[in-house]
Parts: sequence; structure tokens; C-alpha cells
Amino acid sequence: MTFPKLTPTERIADPRCGWKPDADSPAHGVPATWHIAWHLVQPADFSLVCDEHMALVQRDMVYADRHPAELACDMPGTGWLTSAPSRCVMATTDDRQAHRQADAS
Ligand SMILES: [Zn+2]
Ligand SMILES: [Zn+2]
Repeated sequence: MTFPKLTPTERIADPRCGWKPDADSPAHGVPATWHIAWHLVQPADFSLVCDEHMALVQRDMVYADRHPAELACDMPGTGWLTSAPSRCVMATTDDRQAHRQADAS
């Protein structure tokens, strides 16, 4: 199994913008307002971003889904629920989806 080369951020119920202008820069770090799913097939990739970087993403990138960032988005053991609208919930054994926090780089 292969994984994308992304730097996971520790999930501590404190959603912060993970945007990095390049791989060596620190993440933006302001409170995140949006949670992005780049794609929802395994292995899925997710990013938390602020309004400023959501605007860049919408201008330049393609993503599968998004929803407003909330504490559950940065909680260990939560998964992306692909209902409409999508949201993050504590994963159960029946409804488990890999939720890997990823930077936008
Ligand atoms: Zn940002
Ligand atoms: Zn979320």
C-alpha cells in the first residue's frame, strides 16, 4: 500500500490552517475555517485551511468536497461522513473511513 507524501499534523481538536507555501515553510497556523477532502477514495487526503487559502484552493485546485471546519475535524478517531452536507463524526466500527490529516502542499 502506498501513501501520498504528505506531512500529517497532530490532531488535537484545534483546527488550524495547514497551508504551506512550500515544503520547507511552516504551516500558516491560523484557525481553520474550512475542511477540504481532496479525494474521497482510499487513501483519502484532507486539509484544514483558512478563508484566505480556501479562496486560493477554489481558484487553483480541484477538490472532492468541503465543509466548515469544526472541532470534530481535528479530533483523533473521527471520519469524513460523505452525507450531504458532509461532516466529521466519531468513527464507529460500522462506519469507519480513514481520515488522514494532510497539509495542502
Ligand atoms: Zn491559511
Ligand atoms: Zn471535517
